[in-house]
Amino acid sequence: MSEKAFMVNNQMDKETPDSAYTEVMEKIACAATTSALAVPEPVLVAVSKTHDASAIEPFIQLGVRHFGENRVQEAEAKWPALKAAYPEVVLHGIGPLQSNKAAQAVALFDVIETIDREKIAKAVATEMEAQGKRPDCLIQVNIGEEPQKAGVVPTEVAAFYDFCQRELGLPIRGLMCIPPHDQPPAPYFALMRQYKDQLGVEVLSMGMSADYEEAIAFGATHVRVGTALFGERKA
Ligand SMILES: *Cc1c(COP(=O)(O)O)cnc(C)c1O
Repeated sequence: MSEKAFMVNNQMDKETPDSAYTEVMEKIACAATTSALAVPEPVLVAVSKTHDASAIEPFIQLGVRHFGENRVQEAEAKWPALKAAYPEVVLHGIGPLQSNKAAQAVALFDVIETIDREKIAKAVATEMEAQGKRPDCLIQVNIGEEPQKAGVVPTEVAAFYDFCQRELGLPIRGLMCIPPHDQPPAPYFALMRQYKDQLGVEVLSMGMSADYEEAIAFGATHVRVGTALFGERKA
């Protein structure tokens, strides 16, 4: 990394949305073209959790179309007005879901990335039926098999996918993961790519501010980037 790039990274809060967006898009393009897999350029999902509408709007104006929120309640407070103003926006639910929030999640999100257990899959399927709305769904994989982390363990992904698709009729488009944060992510990204290819699904959502370029090298189709765009989150 050049000295200049290093300084830019350390002055994140002084960056404008414009310069942060340009930098992230350049890195995405570069990671896609230099990948040995010759992967197509992935979709940027801007993770706007904790940031309010006034921080989000400049990114919509710059051309960002996909946004991610991890809390249903917070998303419900911010997004209905923004979606009314910008109907082209695609909103991703990227946080752990509880079954008592399934109705709101189905109503609000265009993509639910965190189908992570049978109970949630069933609750979401029931709500889709009731509302006549079918957001795209991803299965969250607990790729590091961490006890504290949500997601389906790797050995159960294929069976869970079949259950969701065949028994519940959920529109499962692919897989999502958050690898262990204290280890190099590359081996986990490589495994995710294998599972995606084995299932023959389209979408692979992986990579955050610290590692999205690496995720792209392993075939991420969607990267979820918060801090590198918006700066540090308020606690
Ligand atoms: C917060 C969050 C992100 C973005 O993290 P950054 O490190 O700020 O880019 C991505 N994915 C999920 C599931 C998140 O909760």
